[in-house]
Amino acid sequence: MPDTFETRLQKYASLVVKVGMNVQPDQQVVLRAPVEAAELARQIAIAAYKAGAKYVHPFYNDEQLTLIRYQHAPRDSFDFFPQWYADALTGLAEEGAAILSIYATDPDLLKDQDPELISTAQKVAAKNMRTFSELLSKDHAPWTVISASVPAWANKVFAHLPEKERVPALWDAIFTICRVDEPDPVEAWRLHTEELAKRSAYMNEKQYVALKYTAPGTDLTVGLPENHIWTGGYGQTPDGVRFTANIPTEEIFTLPHKDRVDGVVRATLPLNLRGNLIENFWFRFENGKVVEAHAEKGEAILQKLLETDEGAMRLGEVALVAQSSPIAQTGILFYNTLYDENASCHLALGRAYRTSLKGGEDMSPEEFAAAGGNDSLIHVDFMMGSAEMDIDGVLPDGSTEPIFRQGEWAFEV
Ligand code: ZN
Ligand code: ZN
Repeated sequence: MPDTFETRLQKYASLVVKVGMNVQPDQQVVLRAPVEAAELARQIAIAAYKAGAKYVHPFYNDEQLTLIRYQHAPRDSFDFFPQWYADALTGLAEEGAAILSIYATDPDLLKDQDPELISTAQKVAAKNMRTFSELLSKDHAPWTVISASVPAWANKVFAHLPEKERVPALWDAIFTICRVDEPDPVEAWRLHTEELAKRSAYMNEKQYVALKYTAPGTDLTVGLPENHIWTGGYGQTPDGVRFTANIPTEEIFTLPHKDRVDGVVRATLPLNLRGNLIENFWFRFENGKVVEAHAEKGEAILQKLLETDEGAMRLGEVALVAQSSPIAQTGILFYNTLYDENASCHLALGRAYRTSLKGGEDMSPEEFAAAGGNDSLIHVDFMMGSAEMDIDGVLPDGSTEPIFRQGEWAFEV
């Protein structure tokens, strides 16, 4: 007999606590969740306390209140940010609390709102949450991002199904993709993250100076800085505790050199930016910087994003994902970056992770920039991989080796 929904939810919660945050005895846990995901949040709290957590801090969010703010708040009030919220999260991360975010939103929430206000709110949020984001990007505390099936999101992804079937259909997809239905989900994740770690090790050994991407609409060279580090599968806190930052995760990633990106790249999936969908877009890069950007839909929002700051026009992440990943295999567009980014090779505009460069965590901002690391208030992934994509690694002597052929890994580990 297949597992009941309750059993699968418990297995998922246990996976999030053991493999995701890897909660340790006496540790504090931060649980950021949309109100619609309360059932999952409660199961996670149970699993966390069973693992010995000292206290689970709930931070519930209601995106209808976000929409109400856009509809009714004074137009000149959008540069306000609740400082207490940033201070609380920063303090807990500094103390080494495990930080969980359940990311499940209505992809269309803000589609009728003023892009100017959205941009202002995003900017001030990024500014106030900067110290917190930096602590996580340095893996100072274990952190994990997961999703949950909520009505507004399920309605978008499974619009073709009768309404009452949508939330269960999205749960089914989540459980399958997150390997919750495997006989031993924790062991399945151990093997999976090991494989990603081996691919990272292979790429670290090679130290390619650049990657060359070829696909329809894409002809791009992405330079890689000296001493870049590919990461995949799991992260590690300063105390040596392994955690998984994203469930699901199918990628290995590093940082590009912020001044050495040239050519054209076409996105292969739409980008959901705080409720706005940007579709069929492409960028042209020169010396690392976007010099041309076009989108068939949502171009104004895309331009605003690029204008956030100097670093928003440069790349901070390069990630490799095989087209055979369980997410790509579903063939579903999820309108959720956590899911869609694991369906495809991607790049990110904005901030690079300090942990992607040897010694990066201890560098001053100036040193990190001089080494090729990008900095920005934003970090926004966009998908550009496909089953038609070839990628070659360029060695220091200029010769090349295949990394991807037709969207799949071209080397064995
Ligand atoms: Zn990524
Ligand atoms: Zn990213």
